[in-house]
Amino acid sequence: MKYTVCSRGDRDSQEISQKIQQYLDDFHLELDAEKPEIVISVGGDGTLLKAFHEYSHRLHETAFVGVHTGHLGFYADWQPEEVEKLVTHIAKTPFKIVEYPLLEVTITYYGQKDSQQFLALNECSVKSTEGSIVMDIEIKGELFETFRGDGLCISTPSGSTAYNKALGGAILHPSLATFQVAEMASINNRVYRTIGSPLVLPQHHVCLLKPIKDADFHVTIDHRTLIQHDVKAIQCRVAEEKVRFARFRPFPFWKRVKESFITG
Ligand code: NAP
Ligand code: MN
Repeated sequence: MKYTVCSRGDRDSQEISQKIQQYLDDFHLELDAEKPEIVISVGGDGTLLKAFHEYSHRLHETAFVGVHTGHLGFYADWQPEEVEKLVTHIAKTPFKIVEYPLLEVTITYYGQKDSQQFLALNECSVKSTEGSIVMDIEIKGELFETFRGDGLCISTPSGSTAYNKALGGAILHPSLATFQVAEMASINNRVYRTIGSPLVLPQHHVCLLKPIKDADFHVTIDHRTLIQHDVKAIQCRVAEEKVRFARFRPFPFWKRVKESFITG
């Protein structure tokens, strides 16, 4: 089996990455950064987000697994002390795959520019480059509300524990093929009225953000911030593609939530 290792780059992560490579070499696994069947991320959840985007063009052929070199992560859920056990599993046992839903984001522009499509593992957030954003929010082709405020965060279920959580969004189990729209400081008065609660939308429901005032935004896709000009609309929905994680032992989602946020 072909594998690769993505490291956060700090000393601890580098050391562990080298250890993993040595072990897997001993097991005669082939290092292949071009076409890996398994990507081992060593660092934090941010490292796994980067690894995901590096290999997002071959999600069907690639599984991910994360080792954390800081605190317990949601994607990076193996401890450095367990690395030997992990590599033995990778080399010797056919692993189970769990699939998590992703968010598909399509941005269309005024003028000649072609639309762009992105996949997010955590979320897409939309903020203004100046002042507040004003956008019509359409759900399934119908105007739902006009949002005015700091921004919007559209997250996947596995991303619901990240930015979305800080915005008061619900934590969603990643077995649900949904996405969530959470507000950032909406302005509510007689002119602008928003629902105020996070919305959870099912598969095949399209949420369209249509700018009213400005057309320039800061759009983030996971760890990456893009400045987008002449934006006509931002369309979000559950992606057809899924991310695949290699599972070698049970570590239920709610246990990860508890150990990350309540008590380890
Ligand atoms: P970062 O600033 O290091 O990330 C912020 C924190 O979010 C880190 O502790 C990161 O873990 C953690 N995190 C990432 N994905 C998570 C998940 N699915 N569940 C729970 N925690 C998660 O930047 P980054 O490492 O490049 O990560 C980018 C992410 O930061 C974005 O996708 C967004 O969700 C999040 N973010 C959060 C806030 C906020 O909470 N107010 C604001 C902006 C962005 P590690 O330390 O293990 O990397
Ligand atoms: Mn990080």
